[in-house]
Amino acid sequence: MANVRLEDIKRRFNNVTAIEDITFEVPDGEFWVLVGPSGCGKSTILRTIAGLETATSGKLYIGDTLMNEIPARQRDVAMVFQNYALYPHMTVAENIAFGLQMRQVDRKIIRERVETVARSLSLDNLLDRKPKQLSGGQQQRVALGRAIARQPQVFLLDEPLSNLDAQLRDDTRAELKQLHAQLGVTTVYVTHDQVEAMTLADKIVVLNRGKIQQIGAPQEIYAHPANRMVATFMGNPPMNILPAIYANKGFQVGEQYISCLTEIQQELNLTQGKPVDLGIRPEYVYLQKTEDKNTQFPTPDSQLPTPALTVALKVVEPLGREILIRGNIPGTSVLLNAQVSPDVNVRVGDRLSLELD
Ligand code: ADP
Repeated sequence: MANVRLEDIKRRFNNVTAIEDITFEVPDGEFWVLVGPSGCGKSTILRTIAGLETATSGKLYIGDTLMNEIPARQRDVAMVFQNYALYPHMTVAENIAFGLQMRQVDRKIIRERVETVARSLSLDNLLDRKPKQLSGGQQQRVALGRAIARQPQVFLLDEPLSNLDAQLRDDTRAELKQLHAQLGVTTVYVTHDQVEAMTLADKIVVLNRGKIQQIGAPQEIYAHPANRMVATFMGNPPMNILPAIYANKGFQVGEQYISCLTEIQQELNLTQGKPVDLGIRPEYVYLQKTEDKNTQFPTPDSQLPTPALTVALKVVEPLGREILIRGNIPGTSVLLNAQVSPDVNVRVGDRLSLELD
């Protein structure tokens, strides 16, 4: 096993910079997830670690060894792809054994290892089948089995669950987590799915346009996003971002006004008339009460104890455990999203007062 260290890695394709300033270190045995929208450079980073891409500049270490010039097959990493990439003419057992045979491992050891791996992935009844006789989930488990059997220093997983349907994806995600706890192999996992990132990772690396936006533990990234991109990408429904103007020790949002704690004013070094974005997650927006049609908007003088905004309800989405409501903030084009209890009785067109924690 080993740590994986990237120092200032850059990769250009002709004139296009796919990734740059990529610096991070995955400690031995940890599970790190690279997450970001399509095209942000996740696969390029993973393929660079695997040796399937060459960095234009920067250094890559696995353990203490500089890997830049070392060919993929000598890197002792195992990669699992989205499309399984199994050999169709081989049985499950032969697929799992393949990497070991290539390394001319003793036959008895191969047989034992295939059996152990198959048992841990519940594939032991399927060893004689060909890939086309398996479901998508089973095929992906075989692909994982082939990677595990090699006992590599590092696992590299590129969107391994994205071809599975929802239920199977959840189950396989849980299995992956257990498997990592059992094996403790350093893992770098690529996904565009923020739920996978949150649930699997020891640390998340959020990427956008080829650059790292933030590195942190899942809860840290969720609670303290470094910028607007991270705030809106991580979390579903995404964080509300409200355009506001700082004025009179509070914020003007459309035609309304919310007060602001003195500490926050000082910390943010706000000046009169400064435009700001206010971010608040939907689970911190509470339904106060149904408003009378004639209610006045709060003004700087009304100084409500808790900041609140009046909205015109546009969308009601029952999600089972809760209802997602989206209300327009008058004077803006913004919809403020809130997650409220499924018991509340609200309708499109209602005027609601939403409290901001
Ligand atoms: P992701 O995995 O996040 O979807 P990629 O790493 O595949 O992103 O791609 C990052 C950027 O690099 C994209 O703009 C992509 O078009 C570009 N890119 C990736 N591979 C190549 C290549 N072989 N030739 C040219 N451009 C590439």
